Amino acid sequence: MKNKKDLRAEIMAVGSELLTPHFQDTNSLYLTQRLNELGMGISFKTIVGDDWDDLTLCIKEALSRANFLIAIGGLGPTRDDITREAFAQVLHRKLLFKEEILQKIEERFNCRGFKMPAVNKKQAYVIEGAEVLENRNGTAPGLWLEERSKIIILLPGPPQELKPMFERSVWPLLQKLRTEYTAHSVLKSTGLTESKIESLISKLYPKVPSLKLTTLAYPGQIEIHISARSKKSQDEAEKNLNKLKKTILQKLQDYVFSTSGEELEDVVGKLLRINKKNLAVAESCTGGFLAHRLTNVPGSSDYFIQGVVAYSNKAKTNLLDVPPDLIKKHGAVSLEVAQVMAIGVRRKAHSNLGVAITGIAGPTGGTQEKPVGLVYVALAWEEGSEVSKNLFLGKREAIKFQSSQKALDMARRHLLKIKI
Ligand code: ATP
Ligand code: MG
Repeated sequence: MKNKKDLRAEIMAVGSELLTPHFQDTNSLYLTQRLNELGMGISFKTIVGDDWDDLTLCIKEALSRANFLIAIGGLGPTRDDITREAFAQVLHRKLLFKEEILQKIEERFNCRGFKMPAVNKKQAYVIEGAEVLENRNGTAPGLWLEERSKIIILLPGPPQELKPMFERSVWPLLQKLRTEYTAHSVLKSTGLTESKIESLISKLYPKVPSLKLTTLAYPGQIEIHISARSKKSQDEAEKNLNKLKKTILQKLQDYVFSTSGEELEDVVGKLLRINKKNLAVAESCTGGFLAHRLTNVPGSSDYFIQGVVAYSNKAKTNLLDVPPDLIKKHGAVSLEVAQVMAIGVRRKAHSNLGVAITGIAGPTGGTQEKPVGLVYVALAWEEGSEVSKNLFLGKREAIKFQSSQKALDMARRHLLKIKI
């Protein structure tokens, strides 16, 4: 391309599995995000199967309209991996055997006590004139080609190979195509409805195109995505982003639980660790989902003592000492039972905090008095306890998520000493 402004970028995902309902082309989303950060927009994205005629046609078409092309996948050793060969043919270039690449592939197998299968030899062929992009996480090397001021990059399909290769070998080379600097941040909140958030921040929507604000709402979590672009420097982009972030935080205050990508369970884990506290949970309608989220965080054994799934009334009595009379009087889904469950699990686990959830996740089991979505979430600590009554909307899974979110948020607010 003569000028960076003339750039027309395209991504091509190769693989017949990507044309079935079972697999998604997630690599191109990742690449799009990274390219956008350089100020590069994507003109076309295509998905093509592992068929020679389709693939060569697709390459020809892509090269007729784009001057920057990334092709993903089909660099492997099997018969259906034909991307390297197809590009060589379309570009009228030879495939050259590289002994040093073969040695590296052989070493990878030897290290794990295997002999390299003969099929892998194919991966040691490189398109004439291409720069080889080393694959530290697999056998297929990537390739960087330049053809009459067009840039063509071939990357392996498995995301765990593509991402590190892109970051290590491609990203530094792309800096010369940068037209702008970008900064972005996600403010994650819980406890406010989408309309409430909208009314609080409606005046903050930026009026300049270099700043963007988008709200994404999920049941139980509302995210505010903000980004800033600068033609001048990364510093300027960060500065403008931070200004916008500050004004949003002033409006939403402690409803925002994270601004750097962390999930609520990460935040609660950090707070427990800082405060040298631990926690145990008792779950009915969430069936262990809260414990699952808490234990998804690496190092959670430092503060997570135990999770009890007390689904039936009998289990609530046997495992958490909930008196059968209390269940009979108020029902298993009640403020009183939630409270005793939280106190019970805390006592049984000898933990600082006890959290309990009992509710009706639906779609059946609701009554007029106790409808689907009614969930009591309780928190117990040394000096007291607190129960919240919630009416969540949505399907079973959404209700389970919102219940766990509420439980985590109650723990967060308690640890931060802010009103639950
Ligand atoms: P391999 O050496 O593993 O064969 P390859 O470069 O030939 O690597 P493919 O055979 O096309 O890659 O894909 C391997 C796997 O990588 C696929 O089964 C799929 O799970 C994943 N994959 C491929 N392309 C994509 C894509 N665009 N997005 C997400 N995952 C992908
Ligand atoms: Mg393959």
